[in-house]
Amino acid sequence: MAKVELKKLFKTYNKKIKALEDINLTIEDGQFFVLLGPSGAGKTTTLRCIAGLEKIDSGDVLFNDENITHDQPASRDVSFVFQQYSLYPHYTVYENLAFPLRSPMRKLPEEEIKNKVEKIAEMLKITNKLKNKATELSGGEMQRVAIGRALVREPNIYLMDEPLSSLDAKLRETLRVELKNIQLNLNATILYVTHDQAEATTLADKIGVLKEGKIVQIGTPEEIYENPNSIYVSQRLGSPKINILPGSLFKLDNNIPKIGLRPENIELGDGPYEGKVISIENLGSETVVAINFQDNEILASIQGSYKSSINEKINFDINTNKVLKFDNGDQRIHER
Ligand code: ADP
Ligand code: MG
Repeated sequence: MAKVELKKLFKTYNKKIKALEDINLTIEDGQFFVLLGPSGAGKTTTLRCIAGLEKIDSGDVLFNDENITHDQPASRDVSFVFQQYSLYPHYTVYENLAFPLRSPMRKLPEEEIKNKVEKIAEMLKITNKLKNKATELSGGEMQRVAIGRALVREPNIYLMDEPLSSLDAKLRETLRVELKNIQLNLNATILYVTHDQAEATTLADKIGVLKEGKIVQIGTPEEIYENPNSIYVSQRLGSPKINILPGSLFKLDNNIPKIGLRPENIELGDGPYEGKVISIENLGSETVVAINFQDNEILASIQGSYKSSINEKINFDINTNKVLKFDNGDQRIHER
């Protein structure tokens, strides 16, 4: 597969909507790259620009160091998995999977098509559905076929546009794990876009965080979580969400306008700070306690269960080594 680079990519719609502004990124051959951002951030537009489905204003798209910015979509050899299933309803699952291999340009022998289809069907656990019509499948099965149809070929890159977003939580989790395993098996180059933080952290080798058409940080899931360069980025990962609080609430060395405190970096039961319990949510392996502290709501998460009741006084401490410091705007203050 290919290394894919975007250089100084700009894209506007109708001459005024700035969808992408100065996008720079490199997806290494064999890398699983996830673009993470809310709706409207420019995720789909980025994929469409790589596939050649949108004309870009300026910038370059490179496959293996070759500039393909002006190449036709058909000659770019990419596979696209769309947000909505796009199967041929009257074809069987087998024919849907075989379709991308039947292009007149390829002229593959039937035996080879059969082998490839069966291999992918097995990976995606849909072997027993190969004879079904696409309309005779559940939502999860349809999306497996849609992903399988992309994976049956070996293009320069797989472009995946929130392929799991229409599935229920449980199925999403299962397919997420399977997709990661398949990618490792095939050593595939994938650009996957999503607004779902769990998908980003479990799938990605690298995450690029998108905000209003700009990439604001690129890093491994660990780097993005531990070392965000802005409040915006710090709020993309982590559940429950990071607490953003006035620095003046806590005993810290100097005047820090705002701090970010992850719920797991708060210790309950003991410590110099006293608040009141607002709510307790037992999630099984962890418990999330909301605390009112000097009129700020703070979320703390602890392992296991926690005995307390609403409105009860609660003492806590914070892990000052893990405090993220921010200026009055959105930017991280880095220690010298
Ligand atoms: P995402 O996939 O992250 O939700 P999109 O790439 O679809 O974001 O959209 C980025 C921005 O471009 C949004 O403001 C969206 O409204 C706008 N946009 C996307 N497609 C079109 C289009 N065909 N015409 C006009 N504006 C568009
Ligand atoms: Mg989109």
